[in-house]
Amino acid sequence: MPHGSAIRGTRVGSGPVRPTERCEPAPRRPVTYWCARSHSIEVLLAAEVAPPATWDCPRCGQPAGLDQLNPPGPSRAEPYKSHLAYVKERRSDADGEALLAEALAALRRRRGEI
Ligand SMILES: [Zn+2]
Repeated sequence: MPHGSAIRGTRVGSGPVRPTERCEPAPRRPVTYWCARSHSIEVLLAAEVAPPATWDCPRCGQPAGLDQLNPPGPSRAEPYKSHLAYVKERRSDADGEALLAEALAALRRRRGEI
């Protein structure tokens, strides 16, 4: 007669198996990269590998680095320009004044001030 305890039934509702007993996840650590446009990208890397120096930003496609204050430059030769810089390129200050005056006039008309 074999030992009765070789096969044990599992009682329904005997409690969840603790996750750590089933599969120990490989140790991972979050590494944050920063691109030149101040996007932060958190990447989960295996704890034992050295993080690569750069990571492509999924939002703008530019290389991102580990140093927030000193991100790698854009991969394209074109220098980075802010949105405002592009606007200023298209519009002179005089254009800006005219647009502002126009917008203010329209606003005042809507408010019944004129
Ligand atoms: Zn980016």
